[in-house]
Amino acid sequence: MDFALTPEQELVRDSLREFAARELRPKYAHWDRTGEFPAEIWRKMGAVGLLGLRVPEAYGGQNLDCVTAGLAIEEAARGDFNCCYGILNSSFAGDLLGQHASQSVQREWLPGMASGEKVLCVCLTEPHCGSDAAAIRTKAERRGDHYVIRGEKSAITLLMAGHAGIVFAKTDPNAGARGVSAFLVPFHSAGVSRSRYSDMGAKGIVRGSLFLDDVEVPSENMIGPENGAFSRVMQTFEYTRALIGLMCIGAAQISLEETIEYTKSRIAFGQPITRNQGVSFPVAEWHTRLTMARWHCYRTLWLRDQGLPHNAEAAMCKGFIPEICMGAIQDCLVLHGHYGYTQDFAVEQRLRDVAGQLIADGTPQIQKLIIARQLFGREYV
Ligand SMILES: Cc1cc2nc3c(=O)[nH]c(=O)nc-3n(C[C@H](O)[C@H](O)[C@H](O)COP(=O)(O)OP(=O)(O)OC[C@H]3O[C@@H](n4cnc5c(N)ncnc54)[C@H](O)[C@@H]3O)c2cc1C
Repeated sequence: MDFALTPEQELVRDSLREFAARELRPKYAHWDRTGEFPAEIWRKMGAVGLLGLRVPEAYGGQNLDCVTAGLAIEEAARGDFNCCYGILNSSFAGDLLGQHASQSVQREWLPGMASGEKVLCVCLTEPHCGSDAAAIRTKAERRGDHYVIRGEKSAITLLMAGHAGIVFAKTDPNAGARGVSAFLVPFHSAGVSRSRYSDMGAKGIVRGSLFLDDVEVPSENMIGPENGAFSRVMQTFEYTRALIGLMCIGAAQISLEETIEYTKSRIAFGQPITRNQGVSFPVAEWHTRLTMARWHCYRTLWLRDQGLPHNAEAAMCKGFIPEICMGAIQDCLVLHGHYGYTQDFAVEQRLRDVAGQLIADGTPQIQKLIIARQLFGREYV
């Protein structure tokens, strides 16, 4: 067993920690208060390689291993949790398009996404189904050299800032999960419209609903083989679920560090409040849980890098770690006293922002189902 990072990985971690403190942290609250999309930050993230972690080098990316991508998202989350949605989406799209899209789609979309000029969205969920993703109703019909797509997608992260979506649609409506295909759909296409949501957190990232009214896309915009998208998207989720764990850990860890500083300087009953075990022990306990959770995420990403199975491990990252991190941040809020409830400190925003990750990419219940299926066998669960 070797738990050491390579010198290159240490360099990535250290330089991104500095980048997150200098470029991301100062405007974290600004995007929350204004609800603006942080386009300037996207370009800065692109310039330091954060949006091309899994994009092939030929298309302007870094093509880094998954462990290094995990280090990058954890560090970025210390500065601005919500900017990590850019890293998540571009990692998802980089993996999927880099491996399965036509060269023309790769050429058109990957360099712009890696530089931060173009935003890609992942469009799977529909109004009637999220957990049961194979039940989607959006349809794509082949007509000559193009497909015509009709349907509605909901809950789409970054939709209002997006330039294109990876849209999942049924090409064989009677075949369940084996009838799903994926398409790159530019949002300027005729027949595309969008509406925005108002969320409790991640306010600059603006989710929304996507309406596809007989949208025509060339057949070369299909990603991977016809009817073969479902298993591919599930395999890509195994990667993003570990990244989500680390993204939440980054936000919780910085909250703990800020809480340590605050509580050391806060005096009550004539002494720093840290002299009370009721203050120092929760911090010690959450630090311990975060440390254990962090190692689990990196092991999951390491398994992926080795080409080893990591389906249940990824489900553990997604199913448990956002909840652990919510608990840590909530205690940090309480340890700040009433100041924690104000918008003068970042903890209240982190609590709102991290909450979205309890649900996105599959709820804790669905992750437990994945773990239980591996333990008992699919036919028993
Ligand atoms: C912040 C955020 C960002 C998102 N971004 C995207 C995105 O970019 N693209 C995208 O396509 N989607 C996105 N989603 C949607 C997300 O993937 C779905 O919301 C999620 O998969 C759950 O689906 P649902 O909301 O339809 O809930 P449902 O599937 O209706 O579930 C409702 C409740 O029932 C429970 N449940 C359902 N089935 C079972 C079962 N078999 N056993 C036990 N419990 C069950 C669920 O756990 C949940 O608590 C996002 C969601 C959020 C909150």
